Parts: sequence; structure tokens; C-alpha cells
Amino acid sequence: MDMILASRNQKKIKELNAILSASIPDIRILSLDDIGFEGDIEEDGTTFEENALIKARTAMAAANHRYPAVADDSGLSVDVLDGAPGVYSARYAGGHGDDEANNRLLLKNLEHTPDEARTAQFVSVIACVFPDGRELLVRGEAKGVILRDYRGEGGFGYDPLFLYVPESENEPQNKTFSEMTAEEKNIISHRGRAIRKLAAELKNQI
Ligand code: IMP
Repeated sequence: MDMILASRNQKKIKELNAILSASIPDIRILSLDDIGFEGDIEEDGTTFEENALIKARTAMAAANHRYPAVADDSGLSVDVLDGAPGVYSARYAGGHGDDEANNRLLLKNLEHTPDEARTAQFVSVIACVFPDGRELLVRGEAKGVILRDYRGEGGFGYDPLFLYVPESENEPQNKTFSEMTAEEKNIISHRGRAIRKLAAELKNQI
């Protein structure tokens, strides 16, 4: 079956294909380019759920409701900052996707926050909408604390400041997301968790 992912990011498309095809063998993921959608989708929601739904609904409508559509929205939510940067994670410091400026602003805003109050979570919400009107939302979270200095070389975004808090002794201990391999991060990350939830849900819905 064909399903649209409201994205042009080939890495995200491959990742979704790989995970979903394990439970839905005949799945084929179409990108925004594959359906001939050329514009940008304005993410003007105030929650991850709203933004994921906006993107999924727009993509499905752009293909004349021929296929179901999936979209994700993710970000970092810091408890003492009332959930900021939240849906504004990519543009926290102004420019879209300026990781270095975003990290610097986060450190500045937490300058006077003591270690025990620096708790945060990465959140990933995935929406799936169907031509018959059904809408599905799943949410994955990974808990951590925000360090005072960068640690590690890998990953992207807020990864070098995010020290993961393991949920069991089998999970990576005392590592930031930047210090994990991609495989380690996939198992415990907000995104990995949300995609696996989606795969389980879709098995019942399709
Ligand atoms: P998007 O919704 O996947 O585009 O992510 C929005 C923003 O959230 C990114 O630009 C990053 O700033 C932040 N973010 C989301 N997931 C991660 C992650 O796994 N590591 C670091 N930053 C992330």
C-alpha cells in the first residue's frame, strides 16, 4: 500500500520505510516530491500534535485524498522553561535550524537553574490521517537533563547538551545523545519510540 510522508528528508523516508515494512510488507512511502507538492507547509500550531496533524492533512489533501499521510513533529521540552523551546525548537534563537545559536540560548536561559531542576524531554509526535477521515496520533518521549557544557560529537540539534536518563540498566548509561551511536539512539529516542508505536497501531488500522 502507498502512504505519503509529509517530508522531503530522504533519511526520514528511508527510516520510516524500514520500520513500517517490517509489519506492513507491501508498504511504499511517497515523499512530498513524489506527489508533486512543491510548497512549504506552514507549521503554525502551538502543540506537536497540532503541527503533525496540519502537515499530514495538507499532504493528504495535496494528493486528492488518494493515500493516507503521515507527518511528524518533534522538539525539546524543558520543564523549568514551561516546555520551551517545544514546537519552536528548530527556530528557538531566531533563524531556522541554527543549532549552535539555539544551544547557546538554551544554556543562557538555564544559567541560574540548579542541576536538579534541569530536567527535560525530547518529544516526537506522529500523525497519520486516512482518506476515510480516521486520524491517529502517537507520541514518543525520551527523558534527560540539560548539561552546562557540550559532550560528544555525533547527532544534531540539542544532542550534545542532552544527557539521557536511562529507564533500565540495559540502556546507555551516562551518555548524551551526541555520545551514542545512531543504533543506540534509535532504540531509546523519542522518534524511534514514536515510529515503533505507529507501526504497532497501523497493523490494527490497515
Ligand atoms: P523536526 O520536527 O524533526 O524538524 O525537529 C525540530 C527541532 O527539534 C530540530 O530542529 C531540533 O532542534 C530539535 N530536535 C528534534 N529531535 C531532535 C533530536 O533527536 N536531537 C536533537 N534535537 C532534536
